[in-house]
Amino acid sequence: MEGVLAGRGVKLDDVLALGRADAHNADQPFNMAFLAQRGSAICVGVSRLHGEISRQIFQPLFPRWPPCEVPVTHITNGVHVPTWDSAGADRIWTEACGKERWRSPPGIHYERITGVSDEELWAMRGEGRRRVVRMARQRLVSQLRGRGFDPELVRDAETALDPNVLTLGFARRFTEYKRPNLLLSDRERLGRLLLNESQPIQIVVAGKAHPADLLGKEMIQQWINLAKQPVYRRRVVFLEDYDIALAQELVQGVDVWINTPRRPWEACGTSGMKVLVNGSLNCSILDGWWGEAYEPNVGWAIGDGRGEPAEETDARDAASLYEVLEAKIIPEFYNRDGEGLPCAWLRRIRNSMSKLTPLFGGARMVHDYIENVYLLLARAMRTRSRDNYAAARALNAWSRTLHSRWPSLHIGNPIIRQTDAMRHLAVPVFLGDVLASSVRVELFADAKSEFAPEVIMLHQEHAIRGATNGYIYAGSIAASRSVEDYTVRVVAHHPDAFLPTELPLIRWQR
Ligand SMILES: *Cc1c(COP(=O)(O)O)cnc(C)c1O
Repeated sequence: MEGVLAGRGVKLDDVLALGRADAHNADQPFNMAFLAQRGSAICVGVSRLHGEISRQIFQPLFPRWPPCEVPVTHITNGVHVPTWDSAGADRIWTEACGKERWRSPPGIHYERITGVSDEELWAMRGEGRRRVVRMARQRLVSQLRGRGFDPELVRDAETALDPNVLTLGFARRFTEYKRPNLLLSDRERLGRLLLNESQPIQIVVAGKAHPADLLGKEMIQQWINLAKQPVYRRRVVFLEDYDIALAQELVQGVDVWINTPRRPWEACGTSGMKVLVNGSLNCSILDGWWGEAYEPNVGWAIGDGRGEPAEETDARDAASLYEVLEAKIIPEFYNRDGEGLPCAWLRRIRNSMSKLTPLFGGARMVHDYIENVYLLLARAMRTRSRDNYAAARALNAWSRTLHSRWPSLHIGNPIIRQTDAMRHLAVPVFLGDVLASSVRVELFADAKSEFAPEVIMLHQEHAIRGATNGYIYAGSIAASRSVEDYTVRVVAHHPDAFLPTELPLIRWQR
């Protein structure tokens, strides 16, 4: 490693420094995410909540910056819809929205899906459920045979599940934070739901654990044990070898997709997006994408959208999951009209399909990346690389100079003049060896009760007579917010730099 770097004139220590919160403190551990952040001009999380959490995680790289200004935004993931839609769903969408159905970002044409009749939608759902039942039986039979289980168990597998029963799907990596066993936390309560005479549920579970993840493997075993019990054999199926092919079959057929991560550990959780196009509904913890997608008429939320401490949250979330199933999901699924159609359920499907499918599809995501990230970076790359990277070199020189001269800058005491509706603020700023064009003088107020964070740019009013490179900066704020909330600060400014990412200099008046 050192040899490879030396060949390029780079010292290993300098690379390691890029992965530490404080580059100069060799006692700090090396962090891959910090290294990646320092090599990036733009940094995005994969859901709104992930952006928020990431700003906290990267806060050490931006000491003295308010958490809300740590330069990490978010672009919520989206799935490649044609990979996940069933033939039946694709037909309905194509008839309603045309061949271009997945190419455009969210827009009104997706709402045409709401015009599909109840009968047609419910037929599509029924076909999906039938297929998932058939697939689960086939897979289960060969899985049990392959493991040498007794013929009785194999025979029962041929009649596992029922194509008219509310079908829940749960498939993911079995790892602690995803809590794949939350549904199992009260076996009796779950048993009552599975074996209910008139309104039963059934569950298809699939998953893999990392070979070294003992807890993950143990959690898989618990599901397998439940599925083996004679009373539950027809209602619970565990499928091995969770992969994309199995995921495709599942998301096309199940009625409700369950996700129970420990908030806020799920960065996004894309599997729930895969079911949208097929008219399946989500029931999930308000974590990752569901934290921003959920509204009461598109699916169901588990828990109250809070995190920590873990044990209490686990118990609370489990109780909430059972309650939602018992009080909302099951009754709505089995509440049928004279034609045998679940009208409220179908309304929810329409809302979920029309509102969420386009929002959490790849077209929207790619559009966001192009507009908000790739074009900005491509332009910057072109500008900076021209003439043998002349602009990049100049920017680097600017950055080094400003960094070394930053200590020479200081902020005097602001003077506030009050009128009825406004407060006018004037503050002396002595720039020392720093060029006025290299900085911005601002007023900052952090979020506080009903107020959002605020940044107000101050303008240079005039030079202070007798001072060297000293100026009065001035600006006005509305009287509605206490002047105490605001602080004067100076930050680096350059029209071509990504700031504060590339140079997080900041100086506060107090
Ligand atoms: C979609 C998918 C995942 C990721 O799902 P999450 O909801 O993010 O856990 C993992 N494995 C397979 C096979 C998938 O299809």
